[in-house]
Amino acid sequence: MKWNELLIRYGELSLKGRNRNMFVRKLRNNIQSALHDLRSIKLTSDRDRMFLTANDQDEMEIAIKRLSHVFGIQSFSPVAKCEATLEAIKETAIHVIGSDETADKTFKVEIKRIDKSFPYVTGELQQEIGAHVLRNFPELGVKMKKPDILLHVEIRQDGAYLTSKVYQGAGGMPIGSNGHSLLMLSGGIDSPVAGYLMMKRGVSLDAIHFASPPFTSEMAKKKVMDLATQLSSFGASVKLHIIPFTEIQQMIVHQVPDNLSMTTTRRVMLQIADQVRQEAEALAIVTGESLGQVASQTLDSLTAINAVTSTPILRPLIAADKLEIIDLAQKIGTYDISIQPYEDCCTIFTPANPKTKPKLQKVEYYESFSDFEPMIEKAVQERTVIELPIQETDEFESLL
Ligand code: ATP
Ligand code: MG
Repeated sequence: MKWNELLIRYGELSLKGRNRNMFVRKLRNNIQSALHDLRSIKLTSDRDRMFLTANDQDEMEIAIKRLSHVFGIQSFSPVAKCEATLEAIKETAIHVIGSDETADKTFKVEIKRIDKSFPYVTGELQQEIGAHVLRNFPELGVKMKKPDILLHVEIRQDGAYLTSKVYQGAGGMPIGSNGHSLLMLSGGIDSPVAGYLMMKRGVSLDAIHFASPPFTSEMAKKKVMDLATQLSSFGASVKLHIIPFTEIQQMIVHQVPDNLSMTTTRRVMLQIADQVRQEAEALAIVTGESLGQVASQTLDSLTAINAVTSTPILRPLIAADKLEIIDLAQKIGTYDISIQPYEDCCTIFTPANPKTKPKLQKVEYYESFSDFEPMIEKAVQERTVIELPIQETDEFESLL
């Protein structure tokens, strides 16, 4: 089947005024960068929808696959264009219907006559085209309400446009339309999912990872790079900051009693993240924390950890169950990377009985014997920064 055009429908229709123009502009840019290597693609947009044309059919097929990963698209449909004559429309209708499975299916023809000079009225057209389809596909049934196949024919001055398929888009908002944040990315299952959810909501990301060599290996670092690369397949490059954390963790183990060392570790991590956030011109910090999952994720713990900064900490998974998170991780392709068995800096130094209700005063008291400030400065300065460009994926899977 030859598809001449893709009709792209936007999400968040409630957006109005200048916000909407910005939304459309960002979406257009993001689509263009997702398809940058496809030379024959052209995009035109208006406030309500976007049209994509391709001279090359192979490129059209690739575009259809990639668009399913671009946030801000509600749905899209491949469109076949033909001359605005009854004969041409009938012939094209057969190709369009034939591109789908027809056994045990019902269908309906829907006509939109934008060119009012077209010499047939809507009812006549519906009958003519419907009867022609039935002659060619006698197995089809006709159904007016909720048919399996809805053949939509739009007649405009420059030709007739036929479509029957609606692909679900990734939903959400275009990346970059809701600012920039710093994601705390461990090698675990949760934080990549948290990053994905924020990207879906239009936030672009830098990521920060704490590594404690030689207690954590090169393989653990590679795993985090793979996770960041997978996230970048959703349409935005991710800059990864890797923080040397060994010295600080050893100091914490020496200075802070076992059952509070996890709280202090998190507090220092957050202070380092906050400085990197500022340098990356990000407004918020994102984590994969989920309430009650482990000792450091109780409300008491989160309160003691949060006390080091007034920067907004976004925790999109706070109310999600582990199984829900795993399900999403599988859909977005991070699960198989996350379950590789390489050690994380926090697991290695995890005490046997971390407090689930750490008292802020106590934590501050034990921390007061050490001067963390210069070590934090040093860790920020000595970080490695890796730019992970947008990863193209031609795998078609709807993520809604
Ligand atoms: P995850 O699956 O994301 O590792 P988790 O359930 O293992 O989460 P924790 O290890 O308690 O939970 O970590 C909570 C959050 O702290 C993580 O989701 C992540 O945002 C951040 N974090 C933990 N370890 C690191 C690390 N080494 N580097 C960067 N961020 C980290
Ligand atoms: Mg973890």
